[in-house]
Amino acid sequence: MDSDDLTILFKALYFAAKKHKDQRRKDEGATPYINHPIAVAKTLVETGKVTNVHTIAAALLHDTIEDTHTKPDEIEEEFGKKILALVLETTDKKWQPKPVRKFLQIKNASNKSNAAKQIKLADKICNVQDVLTNPPVKWSNRQQRDYLIWAEMVIKGLRGVNPDLERMFDELIITGKQKFGR
Ligand code: ZN
Repeated sequence: MDSDDLTILFKALYFAAKKHKDQRRKDEGATPYINHPIAVAKTLVETGKVTNVHTIAAALLHDTIEDTHTKPDEIEEEFGKKILALVLETTDKKWQPKPVRKFLQIKNASNKSNAAKQIKLADKICNVQDVLTNPPVKWSNRQQRDYLIWAEMVIKGLRGVNPDLERMFDELIITGKQKFGR
């Protein structure tokens, strides 16, 4: 990784930190939102052994369009078309009702690029980890269990690109099944 790559990564980290600065996760400690994209990027690198700078930068940026007022043009201007394309691939259309978005994630997973599949795998890993260890305060056990069932359905379409990430996800699901008894 050369100096240009490191510049892209830290630019992406700083950009995401600014965009998410007023957001918190819904867990008990109201964790700063930026911890989530950092965890996704860390999982990609540490567990998934991903070294592609565009993939890692897109992981840091993956929730900026979906969850902040960031416009696609801004990402393109700062980071170029390649990274924008990856961010868009991992962005739900917020104007669609939630059940539709959830269904489309399952339906469209297998059509994503390999890089987007890896980001989505790492994203689901981090979200499932959060549900298991630090869930949103308002979520019932049932909601937590349903999230895991849904995540498993999405992951079906993401398999075949990164065995290490898949293994980590599968282990979390086993833990989840023990916890929720199914
Ligand atoms: Zn995410």
